[in-house]
Amino acid sequence: VAITGTNGKSTTTSLIGEMLGESSIQAFVGGNIGEPLIGFVQGSWDWGVVEISSFQLEWVEGFRPRIAVLLNVTEDHLDRYENFASYFETKGRIFAAQGDEDVALLNRDDAGVWSMREGLRARVLSFGWEEVREGIFATGEEIFWREKGVEERFPLSRVKIQGIHNVENLMAAIGVAKSLKVPGEIIQRVMERFPGIEHRLEFVREKDGVRYYNDSKGTNVGAVVKSLASFSAPVILIAGGINKGGSYQSLGKEVQTKVKKLVLFGAAKNTIRTALGRFTETVTVEDLAAAVEEAHGSAAPGDTVLLSPACSSFDMFENYAERGRVFKDLVREL
Ligand code: ADP
Repeated sequence: VAITGTNGKSTTTSLIGEMLGESSIQAFVGGNIGEPLIGFVQGSWDWGVVEISSFQLEWVEGFRPRIAVLLNVTEDHLDRYENFASYFETKGRIFAAQGDEDVALLNRDDAGVWSMREGLRARVLSFGWEEVREGIFATGEEIFWREKGVEERFPLSRVKIQGIHNVENLMAAIGVAKSLKVPGEIIQRVMERFPGIEHRLEFVREKDGVRYYNDSKGTNVGAVVKSLASFSAPVILIAGGINKGGSYQSLGKEVQTKVKKLVLFGAAKNTIRTALGRFTETVTVEDLAAAVEEAHGSAAPGDTVLLSPACSSFDMFENYAERGRVFKDLVREL
């Protein structure tokens, strides 16, 4: 099982790994998420669940996932690819070696991803928010899985991970788990138990009625749009780092409706201010410590302070994980 997409890969890969892990299937989880795929070739596994990045897909020729998942494709890594079309095309390579016994799981709500269904050899399975007779869809309350007149429902009321993007990740995970005949009770149990992964919309603490969230892995605009959509206003958003060549414009609407104050730091701070400054009160600061201090100073009870940088971290940190840990330490010291 191979999972790719601009956002949600690690979350979906982990969910699928846990669902299979609780069933009688012997499965490993690897690839871009942790241990490289090569480390598993000599094991006796029924299935491998692997996260695959676009960088890895640049190299594949015979790579043939029996189930390939494409979650979404939005602007990212434009410092590496010539243009969006070339990044998009690279993502599509996950399906290139599939045959007609294989399954391609696509997001119906991502117009680009959904358009790929035309050229695929694999059987297409899909998820999205619109009701369908075959496939997976969700309402605010539950996820439905339907195949050949059979329906199963998965309630969301006790699920811990938040946000509409996580419902999308859950839909994809259910699609894979059901294809592998994992029992519905196991799927539901894993959905309810799964605590989320560090640095992905991770709740840090509440202080003086203000809730602090670490979304350091929100390294592109598409991720930040979804993270902001998970909160009801008002949010103080901390963003910045290195610009990966994309545009920040598509954040405008979400910033205007949700963000009470935008606190920017890092190499891209002025670029982001130029793109988004007109949508909300915006300040630039020297570093993450100053950003946390600024956010804390401007927050009122009921507000949310969110680190979701829309940038990579390499101007000031080793990687996104170090940035997230530094943020959490700063927040805990408040
Ligand atoms: P990836 O492995 O693709 O980077 P993660 O599961 O680590 O994905 O999530 C990274 C960030 O992307 C999260 O912090 C969240 O803000 C956002 N995100 C997660 N799932 C989705 C999704 N399905 N669609 C859009 N954004 C998402």
